[in-house]
Amino acid sequence: MAVLGIPRNTIEVLQKYQFTFQKKFGQNFLIDTSVLEKIVSAAQVAKEDCVLEIGPGIGTMTQYLAERAREVVAVEIDRNLIPVLQDTLSGYDNVTLVNDDILKVDIRKLVEEKNGGRPIRVVANLPYYITTPIIMALLEGHVPLKSITVMVQKEVAERMQTGPGTKDYGALSLAVQYYAKPELVANVPPNCFIPRPNVGSAVIHLLRYEKPPVEVEDEKRMFSLIRASFNQRRKTLANGLSNAPELGVSRERVTAVLEELGLSPTVRGEALTLEQFAQLSNLL
Ligand code: SAM
Repeated sequence: MAVLGIPRNTIEVLQKYQFTFQKKFGQNFLIDTSVLEKIVSAAQVAKEDCVLEIGPGIGTMTQYLAERAREVVAVEIDRNLIPVLQDTLSGYDNVTLVNDDILKVDIRKLVEEKNGGRPIRVVANLPYYITTPIIMALLEGHVPLKSITVMVQKEVAERMQTGPGTKDYGALSLAVQYYAKPELVANVPPNCFIPRPNVGSAVIHLLRYEKPPVEVEDEKRMFSLIRASFNQRRKTLANGLSNAPELGVSRERVTAVLEELGLSPTVRGEALTLEQFAQLSNLL
């Protein structure tokens, strides 16, 4: 099978199978070999690695991954792509195709079966409509991970890396930075895809920490608190948190703890660092 990623070969495969793109699945296939090489090299895939690819499409990046990894598990929702993938990946015996919705797959079980529960690498050109739920499921679901290297919408890559005081800062920034060290790999323009997306894209590499950078007694509670803070972005923390019934804290209690932390009683969630959220959660 010819190498995909070269526009001519990709178009040939699409025509052979009379494939029609489904917008609802966020299908924008990569047709730029230099971007593909950048992604797999940033992912640092090595011969001992088991890689999970989310949304292989016609198998373009899967071929690159199969060349480098011990094993690739590719989860694709669109059943029309399965016969295409069986064809484009027929030369590899280290690829397992799973025709399913990644949000319904028990990824921890998959890691247990395929890699004896040892950490895997996730590499993907993600379907943009579900980027955040996928990243959250991987991180908060405590999937054994070495790293996540993904193509996402440019704004989302910015949200993952940014700190307090910017409009992009929010629950995603804090979740990513609690579990991993984010690093921007490349900005990718729309003409590297077929069809072209109407947003800019970026590749981001998240290196999973062995131990989170802050100490939290109850992780779940800290993330409920973070969510409540950003659900009501324009409210002060004291109002936002005391209005969230799941937290069960009074306005007075929040104000007292803020004072203990040397923070203003009118501070908003968007001004707090990860460390301050951790302290707030521990004290509350
Ligand atoms: N990896 C291919 C490439 O780079 O050319 C395709 C990337 S395309 C942006 C996203 C892929 O994810 C599509 O193949 C789409 O069908 C698939 N997809 C969308 N939603 C999915 C889901 N919930 N679970 C698994 N795959 C999904």
